[in-house]
This record gives sequence, C-alpha cells and structure tokens, in this order.
Amino acid sequence: MAVRTGQQFIAGLRDGREVWYNGERVNDVTCFPQFAASVASLANLYDLQHDERYRDTLTVESAEFGERIGRAFEMPRTREQLQLKREAYTIFARSTCGMMGRSPDFLNVMLAALAAKRSFFAELSSERADAIVNYYQFVARNDLFLTHALLDPQLDKSKLRHEQSDPAICLRVIDRTAEGLIVHGIKRIATAAPYADEILVWPFPPTFQPGEEAHANVFAIPMNTPGLKVFCRPSFANPGARHDHPLSSQFDEMDATVVFDHVLVPWDRVFLHENIGLLNRMYRETRMRELTAHQTNTRLEVKLGFVYAVLVRMAEAAGVVARPEIMELLGEAVACVEVIRSTTRSAEEQASVDMENGLLYPDLFALQAGRALGPVFYPKLIGMLRRLGGGGLIQLPVSLSEFNAPISADLERSLRGSGIGGREKAQLFKLAWDLCGTEFGARHELYEMNYAGERGALLAGVQREYGRKQYYLDHLDHFMESL
Ligand SMILES: Cc1cc2nc3c(=O)[nH]c(=O)nc-3n(C[C@H](O)[C@H](O)[C@H](O)COP(=O)(O)OP(=O)(O)OC[C@H]3O[C@@H](n4cnc5c(N)ncnc54)[C@H](O)[C@@H]3O)c2cc1C
Repeated sequence: MAVRTGQQFIAGLRDGREVWYNGERVNDVTCFPQFAASVASLANLYDLQHDERYRDTLTVESAEFGERIGRAFEMPRTREQLQLKREAYTIFARSTCGMMGRSPDFLNVMLAALAAKRSFFAELSSERADAIVNYYQFVARNDLFLTHALLDPQLDKSKLRHEQSDPAICLRVIDRTAEGLIVHGIKRIATAAPYADEILVWPFPPTFQPGEEAHANVFAIPMNTPGLKVFCRPSFANPGARHDHPLSSQFDEMDATVVFDHVLVPWDRVFLHENIGLLNRMYRETRMRELTAHQTNTRLEVKLGFVYAVLVRMAEAAGVVARPEIMELLGEAVACVEVIRSTTRSAEEQASVDMENGLLYPDLFALQAGRALGPVFYPKLIGMLRRLGGGGLIQLPVSLSEFNAPISADLERSLRGSGIGGREKAQLFKLAWDLCGTEFGARHELYEMNYAGERGALLAGVQREYGRKQYYLDHLDHFMESL
C-alpha cells in the first residue's frame, strides 16, 4: 500500500484506540472537534504526496522496496538525495507554516536512521536487529504515521526510576512471555498520539544507571494495542475559527501522556530491552540525530521565515518599515532565519559517508548549532512580534465577522493602517496574536525551547563531542609555540 492518501490515513485511525479528553473517552478521533482540523492538516500532507507538483520530491521509486515510498524513509547515499530530502521536508513544513513539529516525516526519518544501524541492535541479538529492520520496512511500505514518547513523568529528579516513591510509575518491563514483553507504566510527551498510527518508545535522556535495567527498552506498537491509554492536554484548537485563529484552528498538535497498563509488546516489535549500556549509547551511535535534525532544522527555517514575513507586513502596516530601528529589528530576524537555513545546507556540504553502512550523513555539528540556537531564536522573533504589534495586538474585534455588523464602518476606521484596510490589518494582527499571544503561541515557544531535549544538556553534549575541537586547539597551540 506504500504512499497513502489523506483518506487512507484517516480511515486507519478508526481502530478502537483508547483516547481520553477532559475525562471522556473519544469515540472517533478523526471527527472529534478538538482533533479534526489537525487530522485534516495531516491528511493534506498525505494527499500532497499524490500531487504531481510534489510527487517526485515527496516520494521516491525505491529499488530496495521495489515500490514508491515516502522520501523521508529513503536512506541517503548521495548529496542529491540529501537535498531532495530537505526539499521534501520543506514542502511539508510550508504546508503547515512550520507549526506541526511532529509531521510524519520527522519520525519516518528517525526510523530509517535506526534501521540503517542494524549492527548496533545486533550487539544485543540478531533477532532484535531483524526486528528494527523489518519494522522500518513495514512502516515505510504502509506509509504509517508514528508518534514517540521518550520521557518519564517529571517525578523526583534526585532519585533513579526504580527508587521513586511508586516504582510502577515509570514505564518498565514487568514480565517476559513467549509472545513478548509485558510493559507497565507511563511515558510523555507523545505529540500527535491521539491520531498517530503507532507509537515508538525509547527512553531519554541516555543517562541510565545500574538498577534501571527494567526501564531501558525500545519498542513500537499500534495505538490501538489493548491496555494503551492516551490522556490529552487542554486543546488550543479553536475549531472552525480560521479567520480569528488562523494557525491554532488548523495546526494544534495535541500533546499527550501515554499510559501502558500491562501491555504486551510482541518480540518482533522489541528492538532493545533491559540493557542500560546499549540504551545509553543508542542516541549517539545510531546517528539518528544527524538524520532527524536535518528535518527539524528545515522545519524551523520555514517557521522562522514565516514569522519574519509577518514582522515585515506588520512594520509596513504601521508605516515604520523604513525606520532605522525597525530595519535593525528586521535585520536581526533575517540573521536568525539565515543561520538556521545555513545549518542544513552546511551539513549537506560537509556530509560524510559512514563506511559501516555506506550512508551519507549530514554534518552533526552544523545541525547541532541549529538545535542549540533554535530555542533562542524562536522566542526572540516572537518577542519582536510583541514589540512591533504593541497594544494593537489586543485592540482587535472578538471576531472578524464583526466587519459584517452595523459597527463595521467604525471598526474599519479604527483599525486601518498604512496602505492597509482595517479588516486586512485585523486579519494580520489576529495571525500575529496566534503566534505570540494565545495558548497555542505559548505552546510553540515551549516546543521550540524543548523539543530537542533540555538545552543545557544539549549544549554540554555539543562541547563534549565537538569533532572540530582539535582542529581549533591545534591552531592555538601552534600560535602559542610561535610566541
Ligand atoms: C510542546 C512539547 C512537545 C513535545 N513533544 C514531545 C514528543 O513528541 N515526544 C517526546 O518524547 N517528547 C516530547 N516533548 C518533551 C521534550 O523532549 C522535553 O520537554 C524536553 O526534553 C525537556 O524535558 P522535560 O520536559 O522533562 O523537562 P526537565 O528535564 O524536567 O527540565 C525542566 C527544567 O528542570 C531543570 N533540570 C532538569 N534536569 C536537571 C538536572 N539534571 N539538573 C539540574 N536541573 C535540571 C532545568 O532547569 C530544566 O530547564 C515535548 C515537549 C514539549 C514542551
């Protein structure tokens, strides 16, 4: 069935899964008002794969599979393949203005990265190595949409997982049978879990210590697996209000907690289990960061570019776009967009072949620079929206439909700007408010600050692993010797 349509994606979600919203079980996630628009936005991504304008970028006729698969699943061996991957990520990201961080391409490329390192999983056993490769092929052939959950609940950070007041909270293996592992406990934050096809679980951060073996498991199961429950946060979706909430009404990705209640994970879905040594090495040694950050930095470039464009239009609407201090502000926004844009291109330029599997990996450190700076740049641009918009951001009608009410003439006069009518300016500012003032906007700042993991740990890792460190130290040492 490779390369699904939107309708096929939607049909696949009506599978009896257990999703809870505000204390009530959701019957059909595809038409539940709080999810329906996001499901439709995701379905649109699947339909784009069949649009002849994008088909050859978003999908590829794979010799390995003997059929067409989504571009993100392709294992890159040439620079052109890397560029095409970036172009595919860009098409998806532009379709959602960069607002759906967990679009299908994100986990599809992560899975390809894991499967490309079969040898890593073979260190545990050939069965586990076969399991990850077979699972990758299954997901690619069926063009599935995955969510993932890495973290334990935020408990007592001074204690290890098994030392918590209730050791049953953090997800762990409680039994092994001929069919598979029985797992029990909780994971978070699984974005898009209510309407994903499958969930991939691997624990993070990779700092497991002796005693935590039962928690060190990597596996994947369908979202309708018995015993798997999804609990949602409050929705920020504003169903149907496309003019008044242009982004949240279309792209509010639901974040969820996932509870595993004595869940059976069949052996062919277990990729690593009860092994803290391997788990602590997995994040780094499977090289998943190189391939996923290529996608995430591409998406962030699109999102920052979108916010920059809103800033320009707001400055024009206020008649201040040519003022020196506004030019400076906009120039700083450009610099942020361009730095993130450069990370993917630089990573492709400096890509190198891994002799073990023949794949061409984008440069890790170019990409890590984007992951480290995204959490700074995105809030900075959002702050610029607030600064430029000033009180205009809240001096808005309840709904743009008020422009059809008897007060429309007064509204029009009170809201117009430089070369822009009141209604158009209100629409622009409603968009800006969705980015910088709504709960949806706040969630996006939090997302960009956290999606790549806690930033301090990320930066420490960058310094620890920096591959060009010696290159710069050697230069300094030679200079010092010359003194
Ligand atoms: C909107 C959103 C969507 C997300 N989507 C997903 C998803 O799809 N899948 C997924 O698996 N995860 C997802 N995440 C989770 C994300 O990976 C984490 O939020 C991120 O890794 C930070 O971890 P945390 O939330 O547990 O925060 P914490 O680790 O609790 O960090 C919070 C703060 O605690 C302090 N702190 C933490 N550890 C230490 C320490 N050792 N020493 C001193 N201080 C410390 C720091 O001040 C830190 O800033 C999402 C998060 C958000 C916000």
